[in-house]
Amino acid sequence: MAQEPAERARISELLRAADPDGLLALDRRQVLSLHLDTDPTRPENQRSEPAYRIWARQALHAFAESLPKEERRRVMEFADHVEARLRSERPRGRGLSVYAADGVWKEFVWPVPVENRARYGLVDVWPLLWLRQAYTPYAVLLVHRDHTRLLVSHLGEAAVVEDEEFHLDAQHWRFTAGKPPSFAKGMGMSSSRGAQRDVYDARVEDNVRRFWSSVASAAARALEELGVQRLIVGGPQEGTAAVVDLLPEPTRRLVVATVSVPPLEEWRHIRDRVLEVARQDRARREAELVEALVGNAGPAGSVLDLESTLQALARRQVLTVAADRDLAARVRTCTVCEFATTNPAERCPTCGGVLQEADATQVLPVLARSNRAELVLLSEGTLRRHGGVGALLRFS
Ligand SMILES: [Zn+2]
Repeated sequence: MAQEPAERARISELLRAADPDGLLALDRRQVLSLHLDTDPTRPENQRSEPAYRIWARQALHAFAESLPKEERRRVMEFADHVEARLRSERPRGRGLSVYAADGVWKEFVWPVPVENRARYGLVDVWPLLWLRQAYTPYAVLLVHRDHTRLLVSHLGEAAVVEDEEFHLDAQHWRFTAGKPPSFAKGMGMSSSRGAQRDVYDARVEDNVRRFWSSVASAAARALEELGVQRLIVGGPQEGTAAVVDLLPEPTRRLVVATVSVPPLEEWRHIRDRVLEVARQDRARREAELVEALVGNAGPAGSVLDLESTLQALARRQVLTVAADRDLAARVRTCTVCEFATTNPAERCPTCGGVLQEADATQVLPVLARSNRAELVLLSEGTLRRHGGVGALLRFS
């Protein structure tokens, strides 16, 4: 089995690498998907036999027991490989994801917590979808009269997990990675007295506006290059208002909020406020989506509950699927086509293929992908009284 090395990586790179779409494109039915909480700060993980290793062994053996002979042999092989991997070296991160299939072995070491979870069959990208959503990057543009900074922040539920700072290269009006040697110098404007005062002030204001305009274009370009879709603008009110106004239209729509920040304030002091703004933004997005689902507000309405959602997916009618993160449901899925149902049936009504039982969380991402639909995971229990899942429909 070819092994891809698990380097210690930044979460931004990891989220790009652990692409659910790429894993779904494997299009396999015999994949072992394993996610382990390897957090080294937990006492149970510090023992000579860490808890995650015991958990993985027991989970994989329990799987194997329930499978027919050929499959059992395969899963036991994966289990041996996982055991050897976990014995060879302690994973350095707080979480580990492993995807194993014939000729495939992919590992991702996460700097953030991951829950223990094991699935076999269709590739299980549910935990990756959640990580991508939970750590969606927010760009923070801090702007003052004569200096600016751009930060890209991966915010967890309660903490900033990772920041990357960019500074403005005034020669080319581009944001580049890394901290500037000293950012307050170079563009300062000295005071002046005398009869020329008004003219001078007007010229200074003109310069400031030109500066903000360049910042706005540079920020728009940086966001596009970084693929960041959410922007928070901070600074004194006159600055934030002006820069938001000067942003090109597609970027202006990405502005989540503006926050008032005194000049030269340290990022660590601003971070908590940005985190709170981002938390509110997430809650608002989720509330709007739930309202649309319950209020039948998709372009062609909406459906609620698992069976109606599966039927809409089979008709390729789905724009957005939303499901509780803790959705726990079994479905029967066709081994030949993509038909899936919650009803007890032996044969596929569409193609006559054999139906197999699978987890809804393994089937929904596959069907969402073939619908080119977005799959959004909601907080625990959000749609529980509607069967834990729903979909916004597109016009066919
Ligand atoms: Zn079928």
